[in-house]
Order: sequence, then C-alpha cells, then structure tokens
Amino acid sequence: AGEVRFDHVHFGYDPEREILHGVSFTVPAGRTLAIVGPSGAGKSTIARLLFRFYDIQGGRISVDGQDISAVTQQSLRSTIGIVPQDMVLFNDTVGYNIGYGREGATQEEIEAAARAASIHDFIMGLPQGYDTRVGERGLKLSGGEKQRVAIARTLLKDPPVLVLDEATSALDSRTETEIQDVLRTISRRRTTLVVAHRLSTVVDADEIIVMEKGRIVERGRHGDLVRAD
Ligand code: ADP
Ligand code: ADP
Repeated sequence: AGEVRFDHVHFGYDPEREILHGVSFTVPAGRTLAIVGPSGAGKSTIARLLFRFYDIQGGRISVDGQDISAVTQQSLRSTIGIVPQDMVLFNDTVGYNIGYGREGATQEEIEAAARAASIHDFIMGLPQGYDTRVGERGLKLSGGEKQRVAIARTLLKDPPVLVLDEATSALDSRTETEIQDVLRTISRRRTTLVVAHRLSTVVDADEIIVMEKGRIVERGRHGDLVRAD
C-alpha cells in the first residue's frame, strides 16, 4: 500500500495566479521520489497538496487509487506522515519526544512500538542515545539529530507514505551525507517523497523530478540526470 499519484494537477494559492501547471507523476508503493529544483519552483506546494492543505483547481491526486478529496482528513493523516519543517522538541528525553502522541505510553511500550516500526536502530543511531535529555544546559542536539528525533516521532505511527521537506529545513547545519543516511534508513519499506535543493543529496531515489516554475522539466534516475547536466 502507499502508491501516490498526481494527474495533471493545476493549482494556485490565488486561483488567478497558477503555480502548478499540470503536474503528473506516480510513486509506486514503497519507492522513493525526490523533487528538486530552484526556490519557488513549487516543490513544497506539492507536499502541501498531498495533505490537502488546499484544494486543487484541476486534475487529481490519489493515494492507492483513491482521490484524496474523497477521504477524511483523519484517514489521510494515518496514511501520510510529514516531518515538520520546524520541529519543536519538548524539554524532556529523546524517548519522550519520540513517544509524544501516545498518551500514557511507557518507555517499554514506546521501545516496542519503535521495534515494530523498524526504527529502533534509527533512534539508537543518535550519538547521544535514547535517554538523552533534550534542551538541558550544556547539551545540544545538532540540527540533524533533532530532525532524526522528529522523523522518529512520525515513523512511530508507521505511515505507509512519508513526506520529507528537506528544502525548508535548517540545511546549513546538516551535511549531505547525513541526509542521505537518514533517507536510506527511513525509505526502506515505505513510499517516500523528499523535497531537496540539490541532486547530490538524493542519489538513491528511485526517481527524481526536476521542477521549474511549476512544471516538471526533467525526470529520471540520478545517473541519467547528472549525465544530462
Ligand atoms: P519551492 O518549494 O520550490 O521553493 P514553493 O512551493 O514554496 O516553492 O512556492 C512556489 C510558488 O508559490 C512561489 O512563487 C511562492 O512564492 C508561492 N507560494 C508559496 N506558498 C504560498 C502561499 N502560502 N501563498 C501564496 N503563494 C505562495
Ligand atoms: P519555503 O521555505 O517553502 O521556500 P518560503 O520561505 O518561500 O517557504 O515561505 C515561508 C512561508 O511563507 C511558507 O509557509 C509559505 O507558504 C509562505 N509563502 C511563501 N510565498 C508566499 C507568498 N507569495 N504569499 C504568501 N505566503 C507565502
């Protein structure tokens, strides 16, 4: 489960000013699609439309063949996980931050759920560990570590589709290899859409689409696009 499809999607925040001019792509279940292109090309807009933050003016967006305009917001939220751009962490342990949203869950329950969602190693990959307190004086998680915690929080719900908006995260504090490592870990079993600034951060994507001014101007695998450069 988890096929994502855009069919000739037309959209403008202001209906008088179209931003996406007929965008079409399919991400087969379990595959990774990367969306790259210059600032203002419409990459984040695609991510927002998948969550139905806005209604489209033409075309169709579907998940597993079902038009998303016909499903409830609640059902959409259980299918699609988003990693928030500006994640707010609680002044508590990494474990607490990851388990937030499961009210009353014990550390053992969170760990069991993390194992079930295959993210236990991902969490333990944090250099400072699961019991680390976030936000304590003298202890700072790096931008990448914070994002790992935010991603783990989303992954714990085990959504079949995950959307990662890298283009809008604190890029200066992250290395490309860090992003690649995160992508490799999380995209294994689920459909993943990643918005990125540069081609070099999404080497492993099954397909890459290059956006410019609301249109897909190129698509292919990393090797094809680099050769075409
Ligand atoms: P990208 O993610 O590729 O940088 P965006 O999808 O954020 O591009 O933006 C595409 C276009 O839509 C830009 O011209 C931007 O100014 C415009 N835009 C983005 N968000 C809004 C909004 N909330 N209201 C109006 N215009 C917006
Ligand atoms: P991004 O980091 O996605 O490129 P921006 O820095 O362009 O976003 O914009 C930051 C916020 O302002 C976003 O929430 C976006 O939706 C909104 N925004 C961007 N462009 C416009 C616009 N032309 N009119 C209104 N809101 C906008």
